[in-house]
Amino acid sequence: MSTLTTAGSPGRNTALMFLRFSAAALLLALLLLLVQAPPTWAALAVLAALLALLPSLRRPQHSDRERQLLEAIEAMPAGFDLWDADDRLLMCNRRVREDYAQVAEHLVEGRHFEDVVRQSLQAGYVTEARGREEAWLAERLAGRGQQSGPRLQQFGERWLHLYEQRTTSGLLVCIRLDVTELVKTQQALAQAQAAAHSERQLLERAIDAMPAGIEIYDEQDRLLLANRRVVGWMPHLDYEHMRGQSFAHMLALTREAGALPLEALGDEDAWIATRLAGRGRNEQAQLQQLANGIWLRLTETLTPEGYLVAVRQDVSDLLLKERELQASQAQLQAIIMTAGVAIVTIDAQGHMLSCNPAVERLFGHRAEEMLGQNVSLLMDEPDRGSHDHYLSRREGSEGARELPLLGRTREFNALHKSGRALTVQVSVSEVKGPQGKLYVGVINDLTERKQFEIELQHANEQLLRLSTTDALTELANRRLLMQKLEEEWRRGLRLGTPLSLLLIDVDHFKLYNDHYGHQAGDACLIRVAEALRTSAGRPTDVVARYGGEEFVLLLAQTDSVGALAVAERCRKEIARAAIEHEVSPLGPELTISIGVISAVPLRGGSASQWLAQADLALYQAKAQGRNRAVSAPMFSPI
Ligand code: GH3
Ligand code: MG
Ligand code: MG
Repeated sequence: MSTLTTAGSPGRNTALMFLRFSAAALLLALLLLLVQAPPTWAALAVLAALLALLPSLRRPQHSDRERQLLEAIEAMPAGFDLWDADDRLLMCNRRVREDYAQVAEHLVEGRHFEDVVRQSLQAGYVTEARGREEAWLAERLAGRGQQSGPRLQQFGERWLHLYEQRTTSGLLVCIRLDVTELVKTQQALAQAQAAAHSERQLLERAIDAMPAGIEIYDEQDRLLLANRRVVGWMPHLDYEHMRGQSFAHMLALTREAGALPLEALGDEDAWIATRLAGRGRNEQAQLQQLANGIWLRLTETLTPEGYLVAVRQDVSDLLLKERELQASQAQLQAIIMTAGVAIVTIDAQGHMLSCNPAVERLFGHRAEEMLGQNVSLLMDEPDRGSHDHYLSRREGSEGARELPLLGRTREFNALHKSGRALTVQVSVSEVKGPQGKLYVGVINDLTERKQFEIELQHANEQLLRLSTTDALTELANRRLLMQKLEEEWRRGLRLGTPLSLLLIDVDHFKLYNDHYGHQAGDACLIRVAEALRTSAGRPTDVVARYGGEEFVLLLAQTDSVGALAVAERCRKEIARAAIEHEVSPLGPELTISIGVISAVPLRGGSASQWLAQADLALYQAKAQGRNRAVSAPMFSPI
């Protein structure tokens, strides 16, 4: 026993205890002797012997069995301590001293439990008591030996399980098991579990938040998880209780609720059988329309562990748009096929990809002869040669601005299969296709219109010519003359340049007509016109038939000297023409008289007044004997 109490010298302590006990007994004997009888030396000697014997009598004498027991207690792999009824330490083994090494010095026999605990609290070794040491101590003392099971205690870095048991004689036996490793393992496990739990929670929330419906089934095809979207789409299934249910059972419930996909209607048995047979085997996405009209795209995938992951996406909008697109494409196709205009699609290299019947009608080629061919097949020079170059330039360039044809219309020289030239009007749009850019050309046949335009232009030119030309002599007629006269008058007014006019009359033409006949008179007038045309040298000079046998030469930017010179030239040309007039009183050949007028046009005057003055000059020429030119300076300036 003495070797077990403290870490000091247990033998000496026990001897001291017995010495103290012997001293007390001696004092008591002395007291008795003094009170009851006078002491005798013999009595004193007996007492002394007793005193001397006492320590050896009181020293514990261990049996072998006790020693073995004590040795075993000391060697126990658990802490063992024993307290008396007053809660004072009777003994503790090595393990207790090691486990409570920080307070080992207080673990001495006779030390009160409360003292030892206070030491531990003061040093802060009792983790769970920190901050509430007194309350904790009170609870600890109150519960001392009361707890049936183990009590978990952290002391310093160690975790211990305490078993306290009171014996029938009131001793308190305490066994302390070091469970530090166990507690740490448990803590690590709890931590790992918490982490796994939060990860699972995160995963579930993420799956819930996904914009697709997700279900996971185990290898027995029993539901493990369904996210919020699936729950929303399948209101007939109570998902609270669906976990662990087989897919087949869920299908049966769906059928009972009349909520199978619309495609199953009519032959639900067969549909369910096919569905179950193909479960997880179909790599292709399937389309399902729910009873409420929603279209779902379903993909089922097996994981390597044999789990089945079903992903459903709401494709109702997509499908609706696709159908609208298909309808509008069909509409467009119908328009293209029946359109009167030719529509052709080409790729970036100029190969024809599609053409409508109007293209066939316009160019004479059948569709199969055109598709895949270069669109230059339909073109004529010079456009045929430049087209490929144009396209390659287009491909190389980035900006649509460089495309003169895009968004505009242009005329092309085209070619019918027969070799007949066509004129077409083309407008091109660029379309971005999945394989790159495409060009759609809308082609209008302008050939007939072009022909008509040319004819119209000819007719207009003819009309203009007729309306401004004298039919007999093909000189400018009086209308054109007056128009030119007004123009030149305004120009002279603006520039201050002189303007001259010759009014020419055939002498004795009545006689000519009477003698040779009217037809010959006409022919004569044609010859006179020819001679006058020859006389007017400048391109700006206007030679006109003024009426009957009267002609006018309008000479822009010509003064009176120049005008008289031209007048003389006219007379000479007539003389050179030597037109026979055998009844003329003036000689054997035809002559003319000319009234010449020249002026710089001034404001306030007018071209027609001016022309009237020329008439006076002509009258003078006639009066002076004919076959002459008379200028009219007396009338200038106007
Ligand atoms: P004068 O020397 O004074 O000018 O005498 P004239 O005979 O030429 O003049 P007059 O005015 O008396 O006669 C003009 C004639 O010209 C009358 C008409 O028969 C003739 N005449 C006018 N226009 C035409 C025409 O287009 N063709 C023909 N053949 N004769 C015409
Ligand atoms: Mg006349
Ligand atoms: Mg005349």
